[in-house]
Amino acid sequence: MDNTLKPLVLLVDDMPANVQVLANCLKDRYRLKVANSGERCIEVAELEPHPDLILLDIDMPELDGFEVCRRLKKDPQTSNIPIIFVTSKNTQDDEEKGLEVGAVDYITKPIRPAIVRARVNTQVSLKRQNDQLHQMALFDQLTGLYNRWYLFEIAEHKFSRVKRHSHELSIIMLDIDHFKRINDQHGHPTGDQVLKEVALSLKNCSRGEDVVGRFGGEEFIVLLEHCSAEAVLQKAESIRVQIEGLMPCDLKITMSLGVTSFNSTMVNFSQMLKIADDALYQAKDHGRNQVIYWCHTQNKYIGIDDKS
Ligand code: GH3
Ligand code: MG
Ligand code: MG
Repeated sequence: MDNTLKPLVLLVDDMPANVQVLANCLKDRYRLKVANSGERCIEVAELEPHPDLILLDIDMPELDGFEVCRRLKKDPQTSNIPIIFVTSKNTQDDEEKGLEVGAVDYITKPIRPAIVRARVNTQVSLKRQNDQLHQMALFDQLTGLYNRWYLFEIAEHKFSRVKRHSHELSIIMLDIDHFKRINDQHGHPTGDQVLKEVALSLKNCSRGEDVVGRFGGEEFIVLLEHCSAEAVLQKAESIRVQIEGLMPCDLKITMSLGVTSFNSTMVNFSQMLKIADDALYQAKDHGRNQVIYWCHTQNKYIGIDDKS
């Protein structure tokens, strides 16, 4: 297996001989890192890439394993790393305490290599499955953009922050024009490829702090914080032009865009979204391949050519 694809296991013990025994059991299947104290364990666990599993001794000078485990479980950066205690503390009370502070398993010394390997394998594959589920919960599988569900999460959060601090937030809702024809004339796989290329293009023309997501079928959303009405209108127009020239799968495609900006009369993100969606509908209705902005202050829709 490519070494960088091997799961990463962090071995924590203040006695080098113990580390050596564990390393011998695991080195074939895992990449290993070593920490010789509780403090060092926390430092290493916080580094990216985070370990997929930690094997943690309990009796160590200064920070003991129980306390290290408690701290790692409290920190959102490290809380989902499974921890197995490997210890000579072999009473049932010790084991109970270990599991209570958040470990997934408890192995007593002297260790049996086959048992350590089996338990580590189990926990690492559970961790990997968990990571995959997490990934699927946040991202759209086809395009890799945020999915609809997560977009709403982020957007509601941004909306409340903007409402409290009254800075700027704008939204662009985009829909590919006559996309059904692409599927009908060139097949679904080509349609999928077009969606991927559009997604990549949207991602590439946005700033790091913008949120780009796939809202559904051939509809996308870009959320832009600290972006004024004037700026978002220019931004939307530049996206429209970029898509017009993109030629994914050698096909000419265009998009219609509905845009609006936060206004203090809006009560929640859904309302803002509805306004952008209505503006998008206007863009479709007026001939597609254009940007329509809903302007609160003027209480009307405006296109790119009639901003006055
Ligand atoms: P309009 O300009 O009014 O938006 O027309 P349209 O054809 O783009 O819109 P319509 O809503 O009629 O059709 C959208 C099409 O998008 C229908 C659906 O089959 C297709 N679609 C939705 N999701 C996917 C997908 O993941 N892959 C592919 N290839 N097609 C998809
Ligand atoms: Mg469409
Ligand atoms: Mg649509």
